Amino acid sequence: MEEEQKDNYLCKYCNSETYEDVVKMCLWEEEKLVVVEDIPARVCKNCMEQFYDEATRLRIDKLKDTKFPVEEAKQVVKVPIFSLSSVKISEKASPEKPEA
Ligand SMILES: [Zn+2]
Repeated sequence: MEEEQKDNYLCKYCNSETYEDVVKMCLWEEEKLVVVEDIPARVCKNCMEQFYDEATRLRIDKLKDTKFPVEEAKQVVKVPIFSLSSVKISEKASPEKPEA
């Protein structure tokens, strides 16, 4: 009975159905961005919110406690970082400006 309930786990935000999946998570460890893969989760079909069971959360916390030593990473990728401050939009793109 209890297992059946678990299969019908509904999203606590929008009450939609969820499905089992294996997901990735991005998190900042101080100035370092890290990715954690192979996380078992239930994902909401509607809002895509991810839910983890107790054991998974404990394992994530345990990994966080290691401070993510780079030599233990499965893979290291370069991440391009952009600044929005260098992005300008043309005046034409602004709908609030009246036509001259
Ligand atoms: Zn949802």
